[in-house]
Amino acid sequence: MPQTHAIYAHTGEDVLSSVFQQLDVDDDRLFNITMTFLHEMWDGLNNYGHDMAMIPTFVRSIPDGSEKGTFLALDLGGTNLRVCEVNLHGDKTFSLRQQKYKVSDALKTGEATTLFDYLADSVDAFLTDSGSPNCALPPSLARRNLAEVSDEEDVPYIPLGLTFSFPVEQTALDSGKLLTWTKGFAAKNAIGNDVVKLLQDAFDRKNMHVRCVALVNDTVGALLSRAYTSGGCILGAIFGTGTNGAYVEDMASISKLGRSTAVKEGNLMVVNTEWGGFNNSRSALPSTPYDNKVDRESINPGKQAFEKFISGMYLGEITRNVIVSLIDAAPKPLLFSGHSSKQLNKQWGVDTAVLSEVEEAWEGIGRFVPEDTGSTAEATNAGEGTETSNGTNSTRQPSVQQKLERIRDVIVKRMELPPDSVSLDDADVVRKICTHIAWRAARLSSCAVAAVLFQTGRARLTRGGEETKNTAPLVDEGKRIGVGVDGSLVEHYPCFEKKLRASLRVLVGEDVERRVDIGLAKDGSGVGAALCALVAYRQNMVKQCHTVYEHEVANGVSESRGAEHFACPDSLART
Ligand code: ADP
Ligand code: MG
Repeated sequence: MPQTHAIYAHTGEDVLSSVFQQLDVDDDRLFNITMTFLHEMWDGLNNYGHDMAMIPTFVRSIPDGSEKGTFLALDLGGTNLRVCEVNLHGDKTFSLRQQKYKVSDALKTGEATTLFDYLADSVDAFLTDSGSPNCALPPSLARRNLAEVSDEEDVPYIPLGLTFSFPVEQTALDSGKLLTWTKGFAAKNAIGNDVVKLLQDAFDRKNMHVRCVALVNDTVGALLSRAYTSGGCILGAIFGTGTNGAYVEDMASISKLGRSTAVKEGNLMVVNTEWGGFNNSRSALPSTPYDNKVDRESINPGKQAFEKFISGMYLGEITRNVIVSLIDAAPKPLLFSGHSSKQLNKQWGVDTAVLSEVEEAWEGIGRFVPEDTGSTAEATNAGEGTETSNGTNSTRQPSVQQKLERIRDVIVKRMELPPDSVSLDDADVVRKICTHIAWRAARLSSCAVAAVLFQTGRARLTRGGEETKNTAPLVDEGKRIGVGVDGSLVEHYPCFEKKLRASLRVLVGEDVERRVDIGLAKDGSGVGAALCALVAYRQNMVKQCHTVYEHEVANGVSESRGAEHFACPDSLART
């Protein structure tokens, strides 16, 4: 294998084909990765403490679009911090007002209290800027768990759902301990602490009347919001700064929960897989020297292995490593006549958005839509080797040379290189590197989706076109399978979903792949947090009704009336 720096080879072609070969993942390997993925899922469902943590979320009901209410949501994603007010209309639609805030590197790596104070300040700023929201918990509900604020009896609290997209071991809908930071965060004195408490303490320090009633991962948010807008969903998946997925699991399969109250209360629960930490041993993943370098220089070496092959935070950095190694190749440089730049020499100097731009320049989409056609040219090829942008010989389509010139402009601008150091051949090499790296990310992503489909009984796995032996009937045979996705990578990277689907078809067969309805969970984090706040509200209402009932039974009041008398009226449960 070549080293990442000081590549030495007789011909440039040898080196390039070796690099591309290393970045390829063949169908057999895809199958093996999926099987390993399933084994790690089962390990995580059986025991605590695995890297792929398979976290029970305590979300036990899935929205159907009829939910109503207005809630605040706070979303700490990795790159963005958003505060939103979400109004669920109860007819599969919602409206949302939001404000984005920046999280500086100093906040990411400083003291946790400073970070959480900043989150509280952002909510405060949002409430101040946008006026008082239409959401408030009645004082009786807001006061539960808050004996210490009994002197504020009549002040209603604003219910807030927190979307917190880091691994948290949840113990209830409104509490969970941070297991580890990911995606470049390393705030001190947070790991092992309850993030809801950290946030609530920050609100309380500032005397804000905001109550964090639900903690939700962005994957769960994507699942719930897609279920709300489309009437059903079994998997929520994120492809943004990081990658992760949450799916609806049969409670009986989550054996690590034992015979807890949650197990007795329902038959399904959403599980947050934390699949970014799949295969940290890298026994199955197709690591190259470029991946090893990214990992070694990251803030969390040896962790989040799967994520480092797939997500927005890393694809640009892998690409940068490949490019730099080709600049440094001996006996002669293989890119940019040996020129590099400050931008290229800097860790994280190439954003994944640059890869998108290179592919858009090639495909003639995004800002590269030809002006005279006025319409988006559909990219036809999900993989490598596209030679025309729409498969026709239309004279209005740019020539290969024109497309490479566009790519050269992107490279010169984004990588800050002198224009005369970038040839059209260089542009072509960079394009192929980008395509290979994105193609590999999409193929690996399909393994996670296939594993969830298999685990939930909705697919059989196929190897080399042959179905593995399994005669059990499929769950929901013939029906649509809802999958909600969110994140800049899946939203903006050209043909990411198309590439993922092509590999999914290899793994689960065409019939199942065709029934997989992948939809963008637009604003999933905000809407999901609002839905989760509603679920918390409902579950608490039910608990409160049960408590009243139990109290009355204990006092001999309710024996003749029966428990159903105290079932929460729908109008109450569906605020
Ligand atoms: P978060 O993870 O904070 O919710 P996003 O979903 O917006 O935020 O993901 C941000 C990540 O997506 C960054 O790592 C960035 O490099 C990447 N990204 C941003 N724009 C694009 C794009 N056009 N194409 C591909 N990746 C992108
Ligand atoms: Mg996000």
